[in-house]
Amino acid sequence: MPRTLLLAVLAVVACAAARPAACAAASLPLEVEVRAREFAPGEPVRITVRAPEPLVSARGRFGGREIRLAPEDGRTPSASWTGWSLVGLDDPPGPAIIEITGRTAGGRAAAGARAVTVAAREFPVEHLTVAAKYVEPPADVAARLARERAALDAVYARTSPPPPDLGPFVPPVPGPPTSTFGKRRVFNGKPRAPHPGLDLRAAEGDTVRSAGAGTVVWAGELYYSGNTVIVDHGLGLFTIYAHLSRIDVREGQPVRAGERLGLAGATGRVTGPHLHFGAKIGREPFDPRALYDPSLFD
Ligand SMILES: [Zn+2]
Repeated sequence: MPRTLLLAVLAVVACAAARPAACAAASLPLEVEVRAREFAPGEPVRITVRAPEPLVSARGRFGGREIRLAPEDGRTPSASWTGWSLVGLDDPPGPAIIEITGRTAGGRAAAGARAVTVAAREFPVEHLTVAAKYVEPPADVAARLARERAALDAVYARTSPPPPDLGPFVPPVPGPPTSTFGKRRVFNGKPRAPHPGLDLRAAEGDTVRSAGAGTVVWAGELYYSGNTVIVDHGLGLFTIYAHLSRIDVREGQPVRAGERLGLAGATGRVTGPHLHFGAKIGREPFDPRALYDPSLFD
């Protein structure tokens, strides 16, 4: 068998064994670059896709979740696409694959993949005994909670284009963390959902700033998180600022990194003033401190 043909056959066999669906022999090969502080539960992943020909569409999957991709220059067709994904809090350690598919203006399919290894990560467990009112919401707020959940689901389902000046994020307040991301709290012996953000020390009235450039998509009161601002940073990336004593922005307002969103406080179901700083890709939380890492924004 001629050497070149043998190599071609081997390539198709390797490809089909790894991932048959994304791997038609005729598809255009995509270069998939992935960046993360660490491939471990609770970490965001930045994905960049380069194609040998401009694509009119591109989409991806990682660990059963969809990756929302957009052209880097904001124009379609494009040979360069970008998007966000994450390693979920409950993702198992071991090998995983990030798969991208796309299509050229001429209708040709494009495909590429990148294998990663997810490290194991343990989150601390904290046992707390608190007054019953902090554990179970009163029965008469069930309808309110359902309404808020539906409204937030609609917020996190949005896919906006990324702002052009999205760079490394900045801390929203200067105070140190008082509770870390992912901590599994057990209240009065009952396990709760893992802490979906970071608590930062802040006094009542301290200025709270947007960690990154984006658009305000929520500015209002919620049962658990009190006065809350959510900023949309594009392609499913959001940051959340909770328990504010005052909100100084309105929905639809563009904000720069470091711009004032409001003042810290103790609204919602909390025992004292602090800033709860959250970050999500879609509806899934990750450690917001990862966004300070400049390598995610190269
Ligand atoms: Zn918190």
